Amino acid sequence: MKTAAVIGSGFGGLALAVRLQSAGIQTTLVEAREKAGGRAYVWKDEGYTFDAGPTVITDPACLKELFELSGRRIEDYVDLVSVDPFYRLCWEDGDTFDYVNNQEELDRQIAARNPADVAGYKRFLAYSEELFQEGYVKLGHVPFLDFGSMIAAAPALMKLQAWRSVYDKVCSFVQDPHLRQALSFHTLLVGGSPFSTTTIYALIHALERRGGVWFPKGGTHALVDGLVKLFEDLGGTLILGSPVREITTENGRTTGIIHADGRREAFDAVASNADIVHTYAELLKNDPRGRSRGKALKNKRFSPSLFVTYFGLKTEHPDIRHHTICFGARYRELIGEIYGKNGLADDFSLYLHHPTITDPSLAPPGGSTFYALSPVPHMGTADIDWAVEGPKYKERILSYLEERYIPNLRRDLVVSRTFMPTDFQTELNAWQGSAFSLEPILTQSAYFRTHNRDDVIPNLYFAGAGSHPGAGIPGVVGSAKATAGLMLEDFAK
Ligand SMILES: Cc1cc2nc3c(=O)[nH]c(=O)nc-3n(C[C@H](O)[C@H](O)[C@H](O)COP(=O)(O)OP(=O)(O)OC[C@H]3O[C@@H](n4cnc5c(N)ncnc54)[C@H](O)[C@@H]3O)c2cc1C
Repeated sequence: MKTAAVIGSGFGGLALAVRLQSAGIQTTLVEAREKAGGRAYVWKDEGYTFDAGPTVITDPACLKELFELSGRRIEDYVDLVSVDPFYRLCWEDGDTFDYVNNQEELDRQIAARNPADVAGYKRFLAYSEELFQEGYVKLGHVPFLDFGSMIAAAPALMKLQAWRSVYDKVCSFVQDPHLRQALSFHTLLVGGSPFSTTTIYALIHALERRGGVWFPKGGTHALVDGLVKLFEDLGGTLILGSPVREITTENGRTTGIIHADGRREAFDAVASNADIVHTYAELLKNDPRGRSRGKALKNKRFSPSLFVTYFGLKTEHPDIRHHTICFGARYRELIGEIYGKNGLADDFSLYLHHPTITDPSLAPPGGSTFYALSPVPHMGTADIDWAVEGPKYKERILSYLEERYIPNLRRDLVVSRTFMPTDFQTELNAWQGSAFSLEPILTQSAYFRTHNRDDVIPNLYFAGAGSHPGAGIPGVVGSAKATAGLMLEDFAK
């Protein structure tokens, strides 16, 4: 029986491990931390459950597929409930927009802003649909291993004007400044600036409109647990709390891994779901390929980091939706500073997560659970002493929320914690503390992203945010599909 190791149990690693095990490859999933999930970690504190990372679950079909590979049903492992509105968008001038999946209601809200934008939005939706078909359905899980594959995709990319940014393209459809933000902010959820991310990412809009926005009962980690159970039901082996120290190579091929405790294990193939720079520069530092590729990757553009403040309150907040985007006064300028400036801006735009509105069991009776996420520069662009600035930044965020969204927040505060750039680096081995790996710009996408199979070491593979197609749950699950396809093809040779 062929064997494979998958390093890292993020959604990409889990999806790859499930695909390999479903195909009869004896797979070992090795995770450094004590729990599976990667960025989708979970903390439980005084009865409050805090999902650390992803909360907006889109394209449930890509998850269902993982269960159906072995004739199982996702419903038997996790209960996904739909979220409505998808998001409530709020601005400091008091304006709000409920992004719902109901065309009439959307038209009504858009017409109240600018009647001409109703037709503009419909044209944008049709364009987004076209991007979805080309960029997601056709190319989202195709491995771009050679330049020829990029050339083959070029006519479609040219037709869709892939060189333009999401924001630029949105502006060609609608006039209202807030609607322009509402239709372009999504790239931030996968690490891209709306002003520089290729317009291909505007497909996220169609992805949400088609597949809806979902949340697992019990929180995102219930979905992680469901995938872990599926993997183990299939006969896979999960090893937690065991950082991999080295990927071993011999005669140009990988031979297996060495755990941090020195234990060696041999495998026919190794796939890494860990950070791409960490994998090449650290785990493969004894191989010339690792050293050269690690060096090259360090010169790429990485997406920003995040400062996330988790807090549990002893009161309920029925007026706050599950997903709220709290836009600050500045949009383009603030994003420019997050992606470029050497420092921390005085203002912020936040994503506020309020899962207890969908699943009250995530807090003690009468209480509520929240997190506030603020994109911040990664550690390569900004020289910020987070040990000093972090606690102050957290206080600023809590004050802002108390003033505008959650009266008496501090009075009702029971528990709180933060996750900041330094945590991304130390807890997840993320290069520069980046939250989403390589920035999703055109010159770092598809063929120009980390290949799903290494160009030099033929039995070394990658799945996750740093490889094609990129970050976000649908992205990394798509990368696992591309990678599993290659691995199974190679195993069959
Ligand atoms: C706060 C936050 C909110 C987000 N919100 C959303 C959202 O709402 N919707 C969405 O779709 N996406 C969201 N994203 C993006 C999404 O979470 C990520 O792109 C995706 O989960 C990354 O998955 P991955 O497969 O790349 O692996 P990761 O989650 O990055 O996991 C990699 C794993 O590798 C492990 N590892 C590293 N080094 C080693 C080693 N040496 N040995 C063993 N294991 C190792 C790490 O411990 C980790 O578990 C969010 C991200 C963050 C941070």
